[in-house]
Amino acid sequence: MSSIAIQDLSVSIQNQEIIRGLDLEFSQGEVHAIMGPNGSGKSTLAKVIAGHPDYEVTGGDIFLDGESILGLEPDERARRGLFLAFQYPMEIPGVSNANFLRAALQARLPEGEELEATEFYQRLYEKMDLLEIPRQFTARAVNEGFSGGEKKRNEILQLAMLEPAFAILDETDSGLDIDALKIVAKGVNTLRGPGLGIVLITHYQRLLNHIVPDYVHVMFEGKIVRSGGKELALELEAKGYDWLKTGEPVPASA
Ligand code: ADP
Ligand code: MG
Repeated sequence: MSSIAIQDLSVSIQNQEIIRGLDLEFSQGEVHAIMGPNGSGKSTLAKVIAGHPDYEVTGGDIFLDGESILGLEPDERARRGLFLAFQYPMEIPGVSNANFLRAALQARLPEGEELEATEFYQRLYEKMDLLEIPRQFTARAVNEGFSGGEKKRNEILQLAMLEPAFAILDETDSGLDIDALKIVAKGVNTLRGPGLGIVLITHYQRLLNHIVPDYVHVMFEGKIVRSGGKELALELEAKGYDWLKTGEPVPASA
């Protein structure tokens, strides 16, 4: 079983410190939710784990099974089993969804090994059905002209196809109506299992009614300030995030 350990991590962008001594550990088979007000650094954390070049790690480390990944390029991290679903998925005009997914899968195969077309499409259609994505989306350019909900579903399709060891889902619920949210949650729940560690980043508790986490962490001003079980999300829902700003403790679970 693989695990990721983030130790005393500090991250800056344009000399502004965003993450300030953050500690977090998660393993395959676990679902962790990271909640927190906007601007806490949740997306920054996700992007730093994935290896986004704009962010400078000024302290601490990120270990995958005891080995630092900070020196690895994003594609190398992906090959080691990391996957990030973006809060704002990018549009890639001119590249069809099917070709994009095929190239991504092909890139993970050992040199000389070829991805079988029939096998690929069989798997693709199976995953698309699971996520209720119409077949015509295979021919459309990646995310181009997709609605917010379609983009998010497409991110989960990539996750389903790539079968990573760890998936970080950054506000996968944002911009989804309740029906789309349920489809996305169903997809994630189907993928859930001992081989996949999931980090769900979300501002709202709503998603966690549909994807029930094993652990909940609260992030504020670049740090994890509180961790607990799934009931912590309910406390946050009831109390909001204002207690963080006043320094008042969140009430203990009943
Ligand atoms: P969250 O996802 O919790 O809302 P973010 O990680 O997006 O928080 O942002 C945390 C802080 O870092 C914010 O103040 C944001 O303005 C700043 N920040 C994030 N990315 C950049 C960037 N590329 N350039 C400048 N500031 C950034
Ligand atoms: Mg964010």
